[in-house]
Amino acid sequence: MIHVDGSIGEGGGQILRSALGLSLVTGRPFDIHSIRAGRRKPGLLRQHLTAVNAAVEISNADVDGNVIGSRTLSFCPHTIKPGSYRFAVGTAGSTTLVLQTILPALITVAQPSALILQGGTHNPYAPPFHFLERVFLPILKKMGCDIQLELERYGFYPAGGGEFRVAINPVKELTSIDILERGAIQLVRAEALVSNLDINIAKREIKVIAKKISCPQEQTRARAVSPSIGPGNIAFVEVQSEHITEIFTGFGEIKKTAERVGHEVANQVRQYLTADVPVGAYLADQLLIPFALSGKGQFRTMPLTNHTRTNINIVKEFLDLDIIVRDCGDKTHIVSVG
Ligand code: ATP
Repeated sequence: MIHVDGSIGEGGGQILRSALGLSLVTGRPFDIHSIRAGRRKPGLLRQHLTAVNAAVEISNADVDGNVIGSRTLSFCPHTIKPGSYRFAVGTAGSTTLVLQTILPALITVAQPSALILQGGTHNPYAPPFHFLERVFLPILKKMGCDIQLELERYGFYPAGGGEFRVAINPVKELTSIDILERGAIQLVRAEALVSNLDINIAKREIKVIAKKISCPQEQTRARAVSPSIGPGNIAFVEVQSEHITEIFTGFGEIKKTAERVGHEVANQVRQYLTADVPVGAYLADQLLIPFALSGKGQFRTMPLTNHTRTNINIVKEFLDLDIIVRDCGDKTHIVSVG
């Protein structure tokens, strides 16, 4: 039994999700205490509970503590059962984070799976659907695993109600890859979406972004999206380079001007372009598990976030693997797995 302390490092939901994901792929049981101790409302929220229950369902796991608010959990998985599943968060909680939890197990089994996920699809503090589709999954494809997504309905905070489908074609062993260089930049494009809100919000965001990162008008798009049950707004810039695509996002909120959202997105893009790394800060923590499962691989990124450092520690708890972080001295870091 592996004992996980949910308060270490970042002290958030990722510690639990990573432990679940790694437990599913290794078959090693674990217990965890102090779940989300670093958060204002500690313990399991709907999104985390949905992730736990999804992990239980795909593995017939024995579980204790899977109730809202719980700060402890014990989890013992059995054989992974690929197949058709529907997981509903029930609130605007992030569906992409539920997927993050069970994906490692479902991509490394013998049979395909088909999933329907319901809840938030574009949440602050989580990978937006477009990030998953255009950034994370193309990397898994390079590692040998083909996953198709289909967005049926947008789900923005606080209304939720989104839905997307996932078709997973697994691979027995993930191919290890290195992502050390970005290569030439091929395309930079900006998009701003509104749901049940004035399209001018999106246009104002695009105006700021285009000006700050010198994005030509033909590579910008402001559009109203549907279907979606609630109001919502997201702006993002996609940077397509020779070896990788990255996406930087900002969310509209009440009392936050469209111009501020635009500035936030543009600043992230400028930071990424100046850093001259292929892997951005969010992607770095998300790559650790697939890289670890492939047995080896390296990527170059910006200074490591607390999320990434914490995730490295969790991976090491479950897998007997070296993960070394090398400071290259130019504000870039190389993370080497295996
Ligand atoms: P909590 O800590 O409240 O439980 P949480 O469950 O949402 O929050 P975190 O531990 O904060 O989870 O993890 C958030 C995950 O979402 C991380 O993997 C992070 O890389 C990813 N993420 C956050 N914002 C973005 C973004 N803008 N683009 C891509 N990925 C993101």
